[in-house]
Amino acid sequence: MSVSVDLSSKTALVMGVANSRSLGWAIAEQLLKAGARVGFSYQGERLQGELQKLTAGYENTWIQQADATNEDEMTALFARVKEEFGQLDILVHSIAFAPRSAMEGRFLDTTPEDWNTALTVSAYTLVSAARHAEPLLRDGSSIVSLTYHASQQVVPKYNVMGVAKAALEAATRYLAADFGEREIRVNTISAGPMRTIAARSIPGFGGLYDKGARNAAFGRNATPEEVGKLALFLLSDLGTGVTGQTVYVDAGLSIMTVKE
Ligand code: NAP
Repeated sequence: MSVSVDLSSKTALVMGVANSRSLGWAIAEQLLKAGARVGFSYQGERLQGELQKLTAGYENTWIQQADATNEDEMTALFARVKEEFGQLDILVHSIAFAPRSAMEGRFLDTTPEDWNTALTVSAYTLVSAARHAEPLLRDGSSIVSLTYHASQQVVPKYNVMGVAKAALEAATRYLAADFGEREIRVNTISAGPMRTIAARSIPGFGGLYDKGARNAAFGRNATPEEVGKLALFLLSDLGTGVTGQTVYVDAGLSIMTVKE
């Protein structure tokens, strides 16, 4: 049986695409293929050219700079969403950051500054984006973010980012409850290790990636395209009835005990 997803009447905002390897872009590609109109936000001017190149081949896209921690820029971003689309069906949050200093040593030595930065950028911005989006979200719309298994088990060097991902997963459940009456769904996708800019900034990521491929049930890591396809499910009407969940796409890595 083949299932085709038609999002041609839908509007989407994707936050956090740095380049073609970004998981946000893997999701956006699926949304664009399904016919959605997609707006993109990026943190800094340095990413503008990259995003312009990526979206050049697609009609019905626009881009806007917005640091997700900056209230004025978030207000301006959602004013743009209103101006372009009038309303919103899909919100994708694909944003995370922790200072490298917090991922090099012991978790025990996490400073309050690094804690605040990691949790604000990587978890609170989902809450903020959902609140800014609320007046524009249609009943039955869908929100997705990206998380990682270090929220559940200790992954060496992931440190405060593991705590931030645990906060993101809990925030997903609380947001899902707040939006439940309107059947607005909020889920987070737990992706296995993938080679992106954010991942490269994690000390020892290369080893983690190789170990992931050896240990996963499939004997390989999941791919960004597989993340995109799961997101398409959750963000379309295929996923009605699913909310508040952390859904894994990791080629069966998290279910295995470590071989070495
Ligand atoms: P990525 O391409 O580097 O995307 C991360 C994006 O977050 C970048 O565009 C980055 O912009 C943006 N960002 C950081 N701080 C921001 C802020 N204050 N305001 C707005 N944007 C901000 O890396 P990615 O791996 O695709 O990451 C996307 C999501 O997937 C993250 O939540 C990550 O934790 C999650 N994830 C990744 C993996 C993996 O192995 N790659 C696995 C599981 C989950 P700048 O480049 O300007 O900082």
